Amino acid sequence: MKTHNFSAGPSILPQFTIEKTAEAIKDFAGTGLSVMEVSHRGKEFIAVMDEAQALFRELLNIPDDYSVLFLGGGASLQFCMVPYNLMSKKAAYLNTGAWAAKAQKEAKFFGEVVEVASSKDTVYNYIPKGFEIPTDADYFHFTSNNTIYGTQIRKDFDLDIPVVCDMSSDIFSRQIDVSKYGLIYGGAQKNLAPAGVAFVIVKNELLGKVGRPIPTMLNYQTHIDNGSMFNTPPVVPVFAALQTLKWLKDNGGIAAMEKINEEKAAMLYNEIDRNSLFKGTVLNKEDRSLMNVCFIMNDGYETLEKDFMDFATSKGMSGIKGHRSVGGFRASIYNAMPKESVQALIDCMAEFEKTHV
Ligand code: PMP
Repeated sequence: MKTHNFSAGPSILPQFTIEKTAEAIKDFAGTGLSVMEVSHRGKEFIAVMDEAQALFRELLNIPDDYSVLFLGGGASLQFCMVPYNLMSKKAAYLNTGAWAAKAQKEAKFFGEVVEVASSKDTVYNYIPKGFEIPTDADYFHFTSNNTIYGTQIRKDFDLDIPVVCDMSSDIFSRQIDVSKYGLIYGGAQKNLAPAGVAFVIVKNELLGKVGRPIPTMLNYQTHIDNGSMFNTPPVVPVFAALQTLKWLKDNGGIAAMEKINEEKAAMLYNEIDRNSLFKGTVLNKEDRSLMNVCFIMNDGYETLEKDFMDFATSKGMSGIKGHRSVGGFRASIYNAMPKESVQALIDCMAEFEKTHV
């Protein structure tokens, strides 16, 4: 039986990425050595890093005055690197989830944080709208996709101050206009690579403006000056990221991926709305994430939660348990998730309804 991987992250990766990485773990670029045991300064790995950065730029259409970095420390280290490097006095944060709140908490070490809006009171089940962003803030920070709550902001803000975005769980899933952002960052372990590498896209002119000294490793400029090779980069995740980027390009790039993602999400949300046993957790349909689909048992059917989990598991569904703060189920349907797996989950929900209503 096929296992359908709906895990929120680390999560499903293209089979192409897994196979190519498995090959390189045994024999990397004809060296007779594993990619795990060669020097990151050797010409074979430098070629991987260069190509990964070039493809990253090409696929996202990143302007020349931005740098692309691959760093350790995950997205969580960016929660502190962003204010360390960009915040002089004050920054504005939109609080749409636990990750957004964690980013905000780190910024408080560096200056004044203005929370422009929050949906915390209702367990982050909607995206606040109509808030004001102070024009004298050093930057505005938001999380485009809230992995835990299944909400998403699919628009680029057009502001006079730099916009900083955590795109950990929706990078490469939809088209974005990078020129509208000052900095974009994220962990790789959703749409790109195994855990261990984070990506940063930063507009060069924003750096070097804060008065404080910045420790070498936490200074973006260090990594720009050294092509993400100041210290040993996470070589295997970077190698895997390159494979995913190649796969993405071969499959029509981000525009094609976005279309499929919209179709997959529509299929699953339609079933949630149709099926009398389930309901979505997000308040407004326009805030629903195309990446993480959260749903719970409908009113009156709450006691069936465990039964459905067992049933779905018996049918090969993996990783659909909702985050403990939301409960119910969360199906993460990242780029690599095939439509057939989404259909398998839908079939499972429909079959369960037949036998329980
Ligand atoms: N931001 C978002 C939106 C996330 O989903 C996650 C991880 N799930 C993080 C940040 C934290 O990433 P990391 O574990 O790489 O620090």
